[in-house]
Amino acid sequence: MKYLTMLLSVLAFTACQEKVEVAPMEAKDTGPEPIIHEEYSGENPTEPEATEFYEPVPPTVQPYAQNGAPSDAIVLFDGTNFDQWVMSNDSTEVVWHLNKDGSMTVKDKTGNIQTKQNFGDIQLHIEWRSPAEVQQEGQHRANSGVFLDGRYEVQVLDNNDNPTYVNGQVGSIYKTHIPLAKASVPTGEWNAYDVIYHAPVFNDQGQKIQSGTITLLHNGVLVQDDAEIKGTTEYIGWPKNDPHGKGPIMLQDHGDNSRVSYRNIWVRELKPAPKLPLP
Ligand code: MG
Repeated sequence: MKYLTMLLSVLAFTACQEKVEVAPMEAKDTGPEPIIHEEYSGENPTEPEATEFYEPVPPTVQPYAQNGAPSDAIVLFDGTNFDQWVMSNDSTEVVWHLNKDGSMTVKDKTGNIQTKQNFGDIQLHIEWRSPAEVQQEGQHRANSGVFLDGRYEVQVLDNNDNPTYVNGQVGSIYKTHIPLAKASVPTGEWNAYDVIYHAPVFNDQGQKIQSGTITLLHNGVLVQDDAEIKGTTEYIGWPKNDPHGKGPIMLQDHGDNSRVSYRNIWVRELKPAPKLPLP
């Protein structure tokens, strides 16, 4: 028995030895490539003036020049008319309520409205208010929305003491991005949304080569931080990435007596950031 045990041990050791073969060296996955800023790879300047540039000169913008909107903004709604807007379903005149206080209110079950003009990358300012008189619960309490490029919804909802799914709450990119915070003012008071939107970029084959992004300040609080747009806003199903060009800004009639109001809407079309004229 003792002999047999020794024999088995020797055989096991030999088998073990056979398994221990040195594997060929493989390249290890080192993760993403390090970022190298080629424009700074030349000879290191030795004087401060060498890295101080006076061109290109940024344009001067007068803030608050147009009843609160910057001088270079396109005012989309100043409370006096719907000239910049049409009904989304048939491009006819807007039938939502135009209020004496300089706001507009969703007219229930009439459909969405949208800007006549199409936009790409923008800075958008828009103020909204849910009605002080609370009705209904969850997604049916003062639900509206601001659609960028006519297809990506920034949710508008009265979430005060009214929980719902977090990727559909106020400040969400509906169904795809939970907000970083809920920053609503009390129900019945005016909220402000400030949006920085960069449209996705598609190649000639219709493939997305750069995702769009949304940054959202809700009453001055950052609630979406350069959030990557996954695709279209879908109530049921995954977001879709179909190619598109510029599109309208669209405001939602959720069709359940939201009574949401909007005011002070302006937009600035964004240009690519200037580059330093490095040698
Ligand atoms: Mg909505």
